[in-house]
Amino acid sequence: MNYFTHEKRYNTVNEFYKHKFGIKVYKISLNGNFTCPNLDGKISTKGCIFCSEKGSGDFAGNKFDPLDKQFSDILKLMQNKWKTGKYIAYFQANTNTYGPLNKLKNLFEKSLTLDPNIVGLSIATRPDCLDNAILDYLEDLSKRTYLTVELGLQSIHPKTLKFINRGHGLKAFENACRELRKRNINIVVHIINGLPNESKSEMLETAKYLNKHDIQGVKIHMLFIQKNTDLATYFMATPFKLLSLEEFVEVTTDQLELLNENIIIHRLTGDAPRDELIEPLWTLKKLVVTNEIDKLMRKRNSYQGCGEKDEK
Ligand code: SF4
Repeated sequence: MNYFTHEKRYNTVNEFYKHKFGIKVYKISLNGNFTCPNLDGKISTKGCIFCSEKGSGDFAGNKFDPLDKQFSDILKLMQNKWKTGKYIAYFQANTNTYGPLNKLKNLFEKSLTLDPNIVGLSIATRPDCLDNAILDYLEDLSKRTYLTVELGLQSIHPKTLKFINRGHGLKAFENACRELRKRNINIVVHIINGLPNESKSEMLETAKYLNKHDIQGVKIHMLFIQKNTDLATYFMATPFKLLSLEEFVEVTTDQLELLNENIIIHRLTGDAPRDELIEPLWTLKKLVVTNEIDKLMRKRNSYQGCGEKDEK
């Protein structure tokens, strides 16, 4: 099944949610005050090269506030944009399955009780932070709410994973996918376009690789340089070529054409806070980016998945 519309020739998450829940659904980003094994020394103390001071959860609530305050603060902001709708509680910052099982249980169970309009839970984590006890708990949770686990992958290329100091390889990703799907848990995978020294064909290979796994959604990010990150330091010392808007639109459209038509597209482009973004500034114009992708798909008369069979 696909959720294409006249304007969007790929499965937008908005359309998917509208079909699933019958109404607009948006995410409320909460902060569970987790850390990450790639920051606390278990794997490394440096973190991924692009990781921000807030553990790549820059739009989440304040980690020192209780969940109900975080929820009401973020909801207020979101309601300036959308007056009605239902919500998915989203744990984005750092690694949200990296902690004692009791902490996870308390937090996730509490988040489901914050508001009767919460219809689901989305948990972002690393593929190497899902042990059996956590997986079994998530399976139980997924029987009671619409649960999605978001896995950071970023790239399938070992040289890139090393460069970005990801701290895990494809094996961890593949194990996580297998174990989550064994338990019927929805998976959304994050990938990044424009990582240094990656060619367009390597970015397309990452998209093709996703088709070989039973995943339900993808977030496609554009690499951006955010202040106070190792990537910013590297970029200042060794400037590298960032993708232009046109290049990002072209590679992302190619990826959409390759991706299996059942996969839901949860995001296109990156998302740095305006005052922390160094480059590329065009990533702030999210609507322009998605409009350009729509335009190119119309011009090519293409749609999500149309290139998949030829490219497999
Ligand atoms: S896995 Fe996430 S939180 Fe951990 S270092 Fe990488 S980007 Fe930061």
